[in-house]
Amino acid sequence: MKKDVMLLGCLILALALSMPAMAQDYDLVIKNGRVMDPETNYDAIANVGIKGGKIAIITKDKITGKETIDAKGLVVVPGFIDGHQHCIEPYAYRLMLRDGRTTIMDLELGAYGPKIDEFYKKREGNSPVNFGVSVSHEFARAAVLDGFSDWKYFYSPDAVYSRVKQGWSVTRPTLEQGNQILAAMDEGLRQGGLGIGSTVGYMRAGVSSREIFELQKLAGKYGRYINMHFRLTPGDDVQEVMGIQEMLANAAALGSPAIAAHFNNPGYNMVHELLVRMREKGYNVWGEIYPYNAGSTALNAVFLEPEVWVKALGNKYEETLQDVETGEFYTQKSREEMLKKEPTRPVIVYKCPEEWVANWVKMKGVAIGSDGMPLVPDDGLTWDTPYEEFPNTHPRFAGSFAKVLRLARENNVPLMQAVSMTSYNYAKPLGEMGLKAMQVRGRMQKGMVADITVFDPATVTDNSTFAKGTLPSTGIPHVIVNGIIVMKDSEPIKRFDAGQPIRFEVQEKGRFEPLSKEGWTKTFYASPIDFGGGVPGSQPNMKGSAIQQVESHESQ
Ligand SMILES: [Zn+2]
Repeated sequence: MKKDVMLLGCLILALALSMPAMAQDYDLVIKNGRVMDPETNYDAIANVGIKGGKIAIITKDKITGKETIDAKGLVVVPGFIDGHQHCIEPYAYRLMLRDGRTTIMDLELGAYGPKIDEFYKKREGNSPVNFGVSVSHEFARAAVLDGFSDWKYFYSPDAVYSRVKQGWSVTRPTLEQGNQILAAMDEGLRQGGLGIGSTVGYMRAGVSSREIFELQKLAGKYGRYINMHFRLTPGDDVQEVMGIQEMLANAAALGSPAIAAHFNNPGYNMVHELLVRMREKGYNVWGEIYPYNAGSTALNAVFLEPEVWVKALGNKYEETLQDVETGEFYTQKSREEMLKKEPTRPVIVYKCPEEWVANWVKMKGVAIGSDGMPLVPDDGLTWDTPYEEFPNTHPRFAGSFAKVLRLARENNVPLMQAVSMTSYNYAKPLGEMGLKAMQVRGRMQKGMVADITVFDPATVTDNSTFAKGTLPSTGIPHVIVNGIIVMKDSEPIKRFDAGQPIRFEVQEKGRFEPLSKEGWTKTFYASPIDFGGGVPGSQPNMKGSAIQQVESHESQ
């Protein structure tokens, strides 16, 4: 009897070894879904087999795996890539997954250059989504010009503290300070930061054209982008366009990549055309939008000063400036009072008509960046905190990607175009920049990384509002990151081993060479040029005073 059982065992083993590969060949199978790939335009009902974190097969044949997700009636697409998320923290992850996001990156404000490595180390093995970050221009200025060194986060949430001072915003650096700023950023690029992020729109008086040009030159030495919150954003349709023209002219002169952050503002149609035409000429430049007619920022932002917001742009605080927490609109008086108490308090800023939002989703080639903000205060918030207990925030934090899909449905935008906006339109240009992690994402193809979002095209919707900005999106039941199921049946799963860093390899040496008057003169035969804007014969050291600069700015 014992012998018979052993014989039977051997027989089964022999049979299993001789059988063609089929049973449980894959770690995970997503079956019967409508698989869409924005790069090849593949669009068919098919089964997806995932093995070792990668897409191993897309086929109409039956396949089996250790785990199976039935996606009948659902769409199976590349996981959503958010290139503009200021909150990369455990408490944010459940809402990111509910909105279908598999990669979140802060490419705009970014992290402080010398802390880039620490930023990544903190998240490795500790995030269910992929994560990445730019090297921050603003924080380098805060460190050099305000002596800010009280780093808790190394990235966006620190702005609540660093922005209480103003030197970073209004000071023209001396040549020596300029070199220190650039050196801090070079260190971040050396440590693998994805590119340079500049919030120059918050530093209009302090940052010269020369400084922006030198930033783009530095990023270009690594073949990496600058991501700009433009100089005059938010502004009118002339200022917005001029802001991007500054960046694009530099990009053309230097041949370096560039990203137009949130150009969902007046002048957007012109900005879109500029980007499309430059891409046609072979430049790696692109832009992102978030699908809301209001932005969100700190109360003391320079563009909210009465001279800019009311006098120059013709806005009324009573109609455009709303407190995130209370929902009340400010007056000039209540704004001034609050500035004394809590200068960096979060506010919502209404910028354009609601009808424009659908137009942005119709623009081919545009990427989606949510511009989600860190929650304030964030003490005690964790992965387990119920959504309703979060402090309020702009609804883009929780709903940007589902809203794009809903708007596409309501406005007859082809589904493939919307799918492309949510993933491929960020993956492709970043991949072209040499970022390997993005050459294998944003695509539903054999061999690509299995970052996959599964949604119901008929019902997918955002639920977050200005009154309650942290309500999760619905109609997105399943999310897979690096082959690991991180959300099933709309229940996020705590798999903090799933997310991978999106990062360049650390370089042995930096590439920045300090700027000198002699260097400029030798190369361009011009008078000494400083960070004060290139006035021939000017003395850099006389340009350092913040007060002088504010005065000269105001008299313009
Ligand atoms: Zn911004």
